[in-house]
Amino acid sequence: MTNTRTADAEATVAQIEELAAAGADVVRVAVPTPADTAALPAILARAGVPIVADVHFHFDRALEAIDAGVAKIRLNPGNIRDREQVRRVIARAAEAGVAIRVGVNEGSIVDRSDAARHEAELQRPLHELMVEKLATYLEAFEEAKFENLVLSAKSHDAVTCIEVNRLMARRWDRPLHLGVTHAGTPASGAIRSAAALGTLLAEGIGETLRISYAGDPVREVEAAVELLASLRLRKRRGIELIACPTCGRIQMDMAPVAEAIRAALSDVVEPVTVAVMGCVVNGPGEAEGADVAVCAGKGKALLYRRGHKVRTLKADEIVPAVVAEVRQAAAEMRTSEE
Ligand code: SF4
Repeated sequence: MTNTRTADAEATVAQIEELAAAGADVVRVAVPTPADTAALPAILARAGVPIVADVHFHFDRALEAIDAGVAKIRLNPGNIRDREQVRRVIARAAEAGVAIRVGVNEGSIVDRSDAARHEAELQRPLHELMVEKLATYLEAFEEAKFENLVLSAKSHDAVTCIEVNRLMARRWDRPLHLGVTHAGTPASGAIRSAAALGTLLAEGIGETLRISYAGDPVREVEAAVELLASLRLRKRRGIELIACPTCGRIQMDMAPVAEAIRAALSDVVEPVTVAVMGCVVNGPGEAEGADVAVCAGKGKALLYRRGHKVRTLKADEIVPAVVAEVRQAAAEMRTSEE
């Protein structure tokens, strides 16, 4: 999801391009104001991926986004509660062939206008309450026989995310969008998202996903691609780095070496596996399974190509030699695919 002001079409298109280059197949933009939906035609004309408009408080933004030609809109039942307004959005989306994601968030399902009911709801398991709210909201879609639907239910809590999505998958045969909302900083957010989304994806639950945390959205996409590639649900884009985590047997500090190799190869899109190992204990074993590997000894290192020793390197030769070897392996992969 972009974090630019959508009304700034230039900045938004630039960020959509960055996200797509990082691996995003679909990009969501927020449209809280008329100026944001007014910018959509200019954005859609240049976006290379389908665009989803995230509609919050006003159903007019949904109608405007549909008219602009977005691929999908996201409605939050906690924010647009008027049934008649929802019916109008459904009718317009059906006419235009636009998909709707109905996405509930833990924070917006509670109706605090009725204190007694609110108190009773707080006693219920949260995942059951979220599914119940979603089911009530979906009545308008069922009445209209609107089928172009995606559902989501997000919480900041990983276990709640797992429980609510399992329940939704049992109850509805519809595409589910996965995410942990307000997951926090990159360090905690990536782990919390991987715990929840990885569990669900491994169970075959989920069609689209967003990893979300504070900071650069490109990092969110990179984390999502890494998660999908780790579960073999998507081909890895770029090198897979197997790096020595360091221990008492280390012969050379390989952390800066691994980082320098990763940075120098950020433009490589082929899935070359690269092992950067700190000693000869596990190094040769990892080297066997990697396309390119380097195992450090005292002041020098052994370079391997698909398990075969290529040559011995001095410490200052390691990074350029590995980079050259990986580029050659990537070129061979490209040739074999052509
Ligand atoms: S590669 Fe060697 S130094 Fe690095 S963690 Fe493994 S055993 Fe330890």
